[in-house]
Amino acid sequence: MRRLVTILCVLGLGAAALASEPVSMTFVVGSGYLLRQGDLVVAIDALVALDVPEVTRALMASALPPFDVDLILVTHSDWDHFDAAIVSRNMTANPHALLVAPADVVQAVQTSEPTLDPARFVIVHPALDAPVEVEAALLTLDVFSFPHPYSKPENVGYRLQVGGLVLLHPGDLDIATAASDFARTGLDRFTADVAILPYFFFDTANRSVLTSCPARLYVPTHAAPAEISLACSTARRTTYDVLCFTRSLEEAVLPPAAK
Ligand SMILES: [Zn+2]
Repeated sequence: MRRLVTILCVLGLGAAALASEPVSMTFVVGSGYLLRQGDLVVAIDALVALDVPEVTRALMASALPPFDVDLILVTHSDWDHFDAAIVSRNMTANPHALLVAPADVVQAVQTSEPTLDPARFVIVHPALDAPVEVEAALLTLDVFSFPHPYSKPENVGYRLQVGGLVLLHPGDLDIATAASDFARTGLDRFTADVAILPYFFFDTANRSVLTSCPARLYVPTHAAPAEISLACSTARRTTYDVLCFTRSLEEAVLPPAAK
């Protein structure tokens, strides 16, 4: 059973994002990415303080490009995926940005900046066997529960469609349970256009796990550039198509969806 959560689109967000425009992806740091199509910008785990130069942090906090986001998605509250002060400052500078995240993330942002309009927050809490559907910024998101490897904090994965491309960012996954997590959520029977997965999934030993999350293009994540490069060369040897980011704010235009 699916639950539907709908929130109002403030100021008609995303309306300018035409289906024909290409979608680009910008790596920020760790597991953080920006997706852009026309005027629409989605941030996933991208507003963080960890390992980010002061100049980038200032752009995040003041919501200046490329951080002029419409929709902020956070998979979980760990500090390498989320910084409450930066998110609250971005939302203050950027009055139309919406946040979709687990309860502890939303609570931390509201504590950091209590004056933010509650209508700008969507708390997601999918059950293990029941993804939640959320409509925000003219996008439809499927939100899945993926238990965090260390059983704390709540971790959710997002599947969203931008410009005809279906992208999956499951947050932090437990390699021991990932195959059954994908099977439980039906993601093993669905081919995403782009799947952003932890770098260690691309080790030859973990190949069977990777086959349980089919995608046309993989983005190895959650590691330093050297580990990302290694994951990419292993993946290419095993014929997986990969997109490899090795520097912060590097941008790539994604290949269009298959016809
Ligand atoms: Zn993490």
